[in-house]
Amino acid sequence: MKLKHVAVLLATLALAACGGGKQEGIVTFVGFAPVTANDKDVRGVQTFCPNCKEPLAIDTARHKENKKCNIDMVWAKDYRCPSCQGSGICAACTQMEQTKGECYNCKGEGVLIYAGKSPTCPNCKGNKVCPICKGTRKCDQCNGDKVITKEVVKAKAAKFVRKDGDLPESDPRPPDKGAEKKDEKKDEGDKKEEPKEEKK
Ligand SMILES: [Zn+2]
Ligand SMILES: [Zn+2]
Ligand SMILES: [Zn+2]
Ligand SMILES: [Zn+2]
Repeated sequence: MKLKHVAVLLATLALAACGGGKQEGIVTFVGFAPVTANDKDVRGVQTFCPNCKEPLAIDTARHKENKKCNIDMVWAKDYRCPSCQGSGICAACTQMEQTKGECYNCKGEGVLIYAGKSPTCPNCKGNKVCPICKGTRKCDQCNGDKVITKEVVKAKAAKFVRKDGDLPESDPRPPDKGAEKKDEKKDEGDKKEEPKEEKK
């Protein structure tokens, strides 16, 4: 991942945190949107306490697990989608200039034609459309909504948070009043393969 992007994001959040009384929880999106069939989806979300920077479940109202920290915090309702940068448009289509959602590799033909042969296009597997958005040109991470909701972030960050804290706080149900004790552990909303941080 590009460290520069993270730095910019953190800076933005730090500024926002200065505004009110409570600090705002830190949400960091990592990885890039895949643009071809060969790209692995390595996207993930990490959520941290804005004070002690420990991994923390989104919607935690007070960092009680860390007695020394124990600060109150707030979390934004939704976050600008990092894959489409808030445009709602498929990142692959944007980057590969697939203006109609057609596969860039075969120009929407489904096959490659050269030297008298016509093998199936390996990018779209003959489907003629962008393998990421299936030709809809909608961003696959936010479904074209331009933002990622708190609930989705919570579900996606559950594994990251649990790794260190070992807390079963991955219930993606919308919170009502503050975030009190959670007791279920479910991995709903984790349709994609596990996002892993890795360099290509
Ligand atoms: Zn803390
Ligand atoms: Zn998006
Ligand atoms: Zn696309
Ligand atoms: Zn193709």
